[in-house]
Amino acid sequence: MDLTKVWKAALGELEVIISRASFTTWFKGTYILNLKEEEIILAVPNAFSKKWISEKYHGKILLALKKRLPLVKEITYQVAPQDPLKIELSFPSRSKSAELKKERPAPPSLKPEYTFDSFVVGKTNDFAYATAKGVAGNPGKKHNPLFVYGGVGLGKTHLLQAIGNEILTKERLKKVVYVSCETFTNDFIRAIQTGKTSQFKKNYREIDVLLVDDVQFLANKEGSQEEFFHTYNTLHQTNRQIVITADRTPKNIPGLEGRLSSRFSQGIVADIQPPNFETRVAILKSKCQEKNFLLEEETVNYIAKNIHSNIRELEGALARIIAFCDLNKCPPSVELATKVLKDIIATPGPGFLTIEKILIEVSRFYHINKDELLGKKRNKEVVYPRQIAMYLLRHELGFSYPLIAKELGGKDHTTIIHGCKKIGKEITKNQNLKEELSSLKEQLYAI
Ligand code: ADP
Ligand code: MG
Repeated sequence: MDLTKVWKAALGELEVIISRASFTTWFKGTYILNLKEEEIILAVPNAFSKKWISEKYHGKILLALKKRLPLVKEITYQVAPQDPLKIELSFPSRSKSAELKKERPAPPSLKPEYTFDSFVVGKTNDFAYATAKGVAGNPGKKHNPLFVYGGVGLGKTHLLQAIGNEILTKERLKKVVYVSCETFTNDFIRAIQTGKTSQFKKNYREIDVLLVDDVQFLANKEGSQEEFFHTYNTLHQTNRQIVITADRTPKNIPGLEGRLSSRFSQGIVADIQPPNFETRVAILKSKCQEKNFLLEEETVNYIAKNIHSNIRELEGALARIIAFCDLNKCPPSVELATKVLKDIIATPGPGFLTIEKILIEVSRFYHINKDELLGKKRNKEVVYPRQIAMYLLRHELGFSYPLIAKELGGKDHTTIIHGCKKIGKEITKNQNLKEELSSLKEQLYAI
């Protein structure tokens, strides 16, 4: 059964009964991930959509799906990486879908808005950005392959497609292929089923630039790994550019063959970390500008302070505020943002975490004073709490290593990397440390 078609039809029906603004805001990027007997797994782009869609539209969605799949009784909403192919197919715009089909033959092309210009650079993504730029300026010659990794919603797909878009602006005739790992695998399986493997091989081996997204999905798919290995070698040996993204480093992808992970590490491996406060502010400002939406500094800061996990969530928060203002014809403000985002922001007000709070609580907990924590002494009594502070800044506030280095009195960022890693390792085997950290966190988030 073609689940894409089912969802497309259901969306067509929902579009008619839901207001235009809400439909556009909440259903863009949704698609059916899976069907398990009586249960549909519906992919949604972020936590906001998940909450909103499941609370407001569950009944309507279930009805629309039941018409097409009578056995379905349940829907599970799952935040999933976006596949541009799926977004396009599953989101019929009233007039455009026919046009799009004509203009964009498979394989799916790139989203034009994913460019280097629209990518905000900060401390947590500058290395990945610089290497991606380098690749786009000199495909196949510098950094081959480029492997970009990072958590969900941090800009991997955006950066990957920016490379493709930039290369195509300069050399229109280059064959640039963007493919999600899932699509590669599905194409491969279909090729086997239809006896068209030689065509498949030919298609994938006549490429100038191959952009493969979310390669962690290759895990445990032996046949696809084998095929990908040969495609990879053919392209690499002839200096064609390969760029790969994943949610972790090549070595840490379980179920990925050693020969692939070692090849993925051959060129350059760049990480993207969660954005720090400054970057979150810059991103919000840039998105407001793109959407021509006016948001004062205070509200921008409020959102950036409260939403720190990833950029997709930030965009979701902004979309929600914009939709609310549009529907109610009112201007945005901190009060409005507080109201609109209240069910998403877990611990607003006094429970809200800041760097200052971390420094104060850690000092108090280990009976040292804050100056010692920020100082340069290296005795055990202060080094250990300092490393705990580093770890918390890294993991609770998502600070980059250089930023922690700066905030902790101008230390070297390698000292910070060492400290965070040490605590991270220790925590897996030392029960006392685990308990210490959890009571510290309790203090930190206490209201
Ligand atoms: P990932 O592939 O890592 O899950 P995406 O590339 O899909 O993340 O990014 C999620 C959303 O956040 C996209 O809409 C993207 O345009 C936006 N985004 C991510 N990073 C940035 C950035 N540095 N500047 C501007 N927008 C960004
Ligand atoms: Mg992605």
